[in-house]
Amino acid sequence: MKSNYDLASRNYNLGTETAFTVLAKATRLASEGKNIINLGIGQPDFKTPEHIVEAGIKALKDGHHGYTQSIGIPNLREAVSNDINRRHNENISPDNIMIVPGGKVIIFFAAMLMGERGKEILYPNPGFPIYESAINYTGAKSVPYQLSEDKGFSFSSEEILNKINKNTSLIIINSPANPTGGVVPKTELQKLAMGLQNFPDVVLMSDEIYDQFCFGENKFTSMLNFPEIRDRLIILNGWSKTYAMTGWRLGYGIFPKKLYKIAEKLAVNIHSCVNASAQYAALEALNGPQNCVTEMNNHFKRRANLMYSKLNEINGFSCQKPNGAFYCFPNISGTQKDSSEIQDFLLEKLGVATVAGTSFGRYGEGYVRFSCASSDSAIEEAISRIKEFF
Ligand code: PLP
Repeated sequence: MKSNYDLASRNYNLGTETAFTVLAKATRLASEGKNIINLGIGQPDFKTPEHIVEAGIKALKDGHHGYTQSIGIPNLREAVSNDINRRHNENISPDNIMIVPGGKVIIFFAAMLMGERGKEILYPNPGFPIYESAINYTGAKSVPYQLSEDKGFSFSSEEILNKINKNTSLIIINSPANPTGGVVPKTELQKLAMGLQNFPDVVLMSDEIYDQFCFGENKFTSMLNFPEIRDRLIILNGWSKTYAMTGWRLGYGIFPKKLYKIAEKLAVNIHSCVNASAQYAALEALNGPQNCVTEMNNHFKRRANLMYSKLNEINGFSCQKPNGAFYCFPNISGTQKDSSEIQDFLLEKLGVATVAGTSFGRYGEGYVRFSCASSDSAIEEAISRIKEFF
């Protein structure tokens, strides 16, 4: 008999990350001989620094081939704790730190911990698409708060706080932000932390994966700097962007004890532990020299400046200067085309891979994301192709 099954309905709520679809299409076009410049996927174009790679290889040669503690090896959790102390001057116990296979995992964990039918979760829009996808998967209602160009793609804490109701269980924030390059000023984050005092049953997840890529006038502020909300704060961070380690699949979460216990069970149920040799590489990343981070950061800053000024030379495009992460998010409404038309046109006709603003939510209409994580010459060539056409 022909099979006749249906999936559990929540699966139909899953979204996706269009950057991967664009990457696949760009790779196919390149393999067919097309000259493609990839400004689509959000990953550093640098190789993982040599000393980190060597540490991973050494771990394999030393026989680290088995399972590790599901929460991560103790010295790595200790190293994360020291790193936080060094950079944010806060004491976080290694017992609150969990090593996971990629920062993304923490989004799903937070959504699973706090989301279910009847609950509401607030998230940035335009924002990293996995927020909305993970929320919808749990059955909770995804409630966007808009990041708008006229506020420098920052958010208004008041607007977020006004959206809280009795069903709100979780708020997600992300600064420096993907896809906008916006950085939320400390004063606004402080207002959010203070305002949350009135809502003791709401958990906050702060996605700080771009924390080291902050080059505008607003300096990076970690939500860890507001101890008032520490007992209901989840932090997402990791190695992917900072140390050019996207393919190693390494991230970490910081959870208050109550959430940690369940997150640990989720880890045991889902992935058991993170690849052992990758954890030793991560340890070297934190304990080794940090000049590689400064160097990459300088490159991204220079390229972001180059890209945003060049984008402003294109007819129909206008672009704010990004303050962090490694993206430019130009407004393309002057072209009279919508975001996905521009995305497809740029890739198929001009050989430039970008990601439509709508891939980051409905408020992304009228924008396209360009990743600055490419060489200066690639950026110049891509923009000159576009400029020539428009
Ligand atoms: N959070 C944001 C805002 C991101 O842009 C990304 C990756 O693009 C992630 C989380 C996930 O990072 P990872 O590759 O470590 O899973």
